[in-house]
Amino acid sequence: MLPKIDTEGLKSFIPEEEIHELLQKKTPEKAYIRDIISKSLDKNRLDPHEMAALFNVTDPDLIMEIKEGAKGLKELVYGNRIVLFAPLYVGNECINNCSYCGFRKTNMDIIRKSLTMKELEEEIRGLENRGHKRLIMVYGEHPMYDANFIHDTVKKVYSIKEGNGEIRRVNINAAPLDVEGFRRVKEAGIGTYQIFQETYHQPTYKSVHPSGPKSDYLWRLFAFDRAMEAGIDDIGMGALMGLYDHRFEAMAMLYHTIHLEEKFGCGPHTISFPRIEPAIGTEYANNPPHQVKDEDFMKMIAIIRLAVPYTGMILTCRENTALRDEAISYGISQIDAGSDIGVGAYSNEDKLENSKKSQFVLNDNRSLDEVVCELCESGQLPSFCTGCYRKGRTGEHFMECAVPGFVKNYCTPNGILTLLEYLIDYASPSTKARGLKALERQIADIPDTSSFKPLLLSRIDSVKKGERDLYF
Ligand code: SAM
Ligand code: SF4
Repeated sequence: MLPKIDTEGLKSFIPEEEIHELLQKKTPEKAYIRDIISKSLDKNRLDPHEMAALFNVTDPDLIMEIKEGAKGLKELVYGNRIVLFAPLYVGNECINNCSYCGFRKTNMDIIRKSLTMKELEEEIRGLENRGHKRLIMVYGEHPMYDANFIHDTVKKVYSIKEGNGEIRRVNINAAPLDVEGFRRVKEAGIGTYQIFQETYHQPTYKSVHPSGPKSDYLWRLFAFDRAMEAGIDDIGMGALMGLYDHRFEAMAMLYHTIHLEEKFGCGPHTISFPRIEPAIGTEYANNPPHQVKDEDFMKMIAIIRLAVPYTGMILTCRENTALRDEAISYGISQIDAGSDIGVGAYSNEDKLENSKKSQFVLNDNRSLDEVVCELCESGQLPSFCTGCYRKGRTGEHFMECAVPGFVKNYCTPNGILTLLEYLIDYASPSTKARGLKALERQIADIPDTSSFKPLLLSRIDSVKKGERDLYF
């Protein structure tokens, strides 16, 4: 059963008028923008008027400085590691009617499908055999997909092991639950609870969500509050770009972050900003009213990076390869790879059928093996690490950890160990050869004086001898 919606006493904390006013201010002075970039490089979260000032910059040279600042900050906080995951669509039944989505109730062009436990198992074996360790499970909104169903499907995923394969972290993207429902899904051991507000602009929200439980703006806006009350301290925020002014949405996410920091002492673990893609039987998605140009999108990514230095940023296969490659340098810390979003697609080779079970169209269709190889070649460290979540470094604790030395002491060694596992167990011969060379370079970059290097080297030996799942 779906939860009973109760929004009594709730009031939006998104000051729509204020955001509009801030975004209408005149172009700021160069010196002021440079101060803002420095504040961010000192790893301080920006305030809304500072984020708006960055958006109000129009001078191309100054925009370049913003992007360079974002690049520097990315290197400082996240190093060169990039976390890889895959989406797993569990079911595409839906009782909502979101104008932009292929799963909406009135769309008759889509083939409806919910995985049985047996089919779910096949999907997981398919994903594990490709080398995935981290998933995001995605559900439509339907009475069938209640908290118990989500709990049971997540548990099932953790229980399936195939050779050296196992899924070590399951995040979910699902409709908002009540506190009790969130407690139930937490019991299954979820990593991040992700949900996108889609648009924070209430009139737009109303027009694109004409019916179903999702039409209640406040119920969705306070989903993270309820999740946090239920003890889920790892949450993924997002807005769907193309529905309304992207600058407004980015600003609103900062206000949402501040709301959570003030109330719970901790903001989101990740932020997403997917752009609307074409979807089967969905005219709206072919021509969204506020389509974001690539140039503006890249500027926005750099600005979000600077605004919330410690929040991970996700960019999915909705975007094409070239754009994803460039965006990584401006702040993206997590990408999906080898994704297929048709329900059941990881164990079904019929591409046409899979496309008719998909929510929208993907633009990056490289395999996981190709992505790993290309990242290694470009000097990045592809990582399958699940260390923080399993060591309890989440929520407020994660924020404490996200201080100097964090990346060096945890992310880099864990990235090296998980990449090595991947290269030995799953990579094609050519990716393996290139990846191992890249790993040598990564290891050589760690100073011999580094306190953890001896332990890392001994763990690398252990992985080469067949041990698995070693992490800091
Ligand atoms: N049904 C749940 C909900 O709406 O919260 C789960 C989310 S839905 C399966 C995943 C996300 O896909 C949505 O939150 C939305 O932002 C995004 N999405 C929907 N239609 C899209 C489209 N045409 N292009 C890109 N992203 C889309
Ligand atoms: Fe359903 Fe979510 Fe798609 Fe809306 S976005 S139609 S709620 S699956």
